[in-house]
Parts: sequence; C-alpha cells; structure tokens
Amino acid sequence: MKGRRRYYGSLISSVYGIYQRLARAPKGFRILMYHAVGSKVPGDIYGLYNISPELFKEQMRNVSGSALKEVTRLHEMTGQGLAITFDDGFRDNLEVAAPVLAELGLPFTVFVTPHFVLSGQLHYLSVAGLRELAAVPGASIGAHGYSHCRLTECDNGQLQEELVRSRQWLEDAIGRSVTTMSYPHGAVDQRVRKAAAAAGYSLAAGSRSGSNLSGYDPFCLARTAIWAQDDLRVFQSKLAGDWDWLKWR
Ligand SMILES: [Zn+2]
Repeated sequence: MKGRRRYYGSLISSVYGIYQRLARAPKGFRILMYHAVGSKVPGDIYGLYNISPELFKEQMRNVSGSALKEVTRLHEMTGQGLAITFDDGFRDNLEVAAPVLAELGLPFTVFVTPHFVLSGQLHYLSVAGLRELAAVPGASIGAHGYSHCRLTECDNGQLQEELVRSRQWLEDAIGRSVTTMSYPHGAVDQRVRKAAAAAGYSLAAGSRSGSNLSGYDPFCLARTAIWAQDDLRVFQSKLAGDWDWLKWR
C-alpha cells in the first residue's frame, strides 16, 4: 500500500514538474527539512525521519556540486537559494551530518528542543554536544519549542513559556543569540504565529511543503521534507519543486 502511494506520488510529481517548467513557475527560496541521520527516531512508524548517512552524504555532495542553488544560512535567505535544516536535535546531527556539511562548506541550522537535550536519551544531543555543534563552522542553532508539544494546543501562558523559555535556555547553553525557530509537529495558527514574533524570533519555519516565493511570511516558512526513502532522483525532483503539490494536501 505504501509502495503504491509512493508510485502515485512520483507520477503526480512528474506531471506537476512538467507543468511547472512549461508555466515557467518562479522557484523561490527552498528550505530542506531533515531529522535524524542514522539514528532510530522514536514513534517513526513509517521510517521516514531517519535518513542513512550514505544517502545524506550523496544528497549533500549533489547540492554542493550544483550550480543551480546557492546554499545560504537560513536567516540570510534570499531569492532562489537553499537552506538546510534539521529538527529536534539528534546527536547524529553533530557526529554524522555536521562533518559532512563542514567539509563541503555548507551552512545549516539545527532546531533543538531543550527537553530532549535534558532527557539524557542517547540519540539526542547532550548539553556538551549542543555546544560542540554550535561551534561547528556554518552551524546555527534555532529553537523547536521547550517540550515539543503542539503549540496550537497550548493556552496563552504555556505558549509563551514554550517560545520564550526554549530561546533563553538555548542562548544560555551556547552563549549566542537564538533568533530562529521551527514549530514542533508543524503546528501553527495565527495565534501561535503572532506569539512567535512577539517572543523575539525573526523567523519561524513550519512543515508545509513548498518553496518561499517573494512576499513569503517569515513566521510561516514552507519547507521541503526529505524522507529516508528519497533516493537521489527523488531528491533532485524535490529540489526542482516537482513535489510542491504536496502543499495542497
Ligand atoms: Zn520535532
């Protein structure tokens, strides 16, 4: 069933890609969303969130060797560039992904949840690991809520706490200001969006598919999820925007 869904997804993407090229659709700024690179992710029943280190390396080499997209830091996003982001704060982001990215000279942002860091679970960054990651050339640290709850389900007090406490905790841990965040579970509405802006962030990423065209909302940035099964062909078609139809789902 999963294979069949994927087949139909690829088919729609091929048709949508042809339509986009014929219509000369604007490309916009694309933000890739990863989670773990080589670690099992709790609750990941479809095996989407843990990409193999080999495939990740292949994808990053492809991005690095491509003249089509310039990889920039997320908070410096402009025009038709590309940013690389990770959610949650997995330890493999430091041990596996960061060395690949640093070697290729690619900047990246890791959105970290303090509760995961403090959980002591080995697949998440420790405080020392978080500091080490923040010191990697090209690395930026952003917030991802304090406890990873759905912000849309918080009352106003909890919402404020999640947004402010996560930023302050991270700033204390890495000794650097934190101005970006991503919404846990991609859960955002107008109230959450306004609270994120009021809490001192300059931009916030969601999980809605697509690229960010001119006039984009800095507190509701679209991202392109890269899943564990995305081979190089699918990866390249996602970079080209062929899977952006998913935003309508
Ligand atoms: Zn998350």
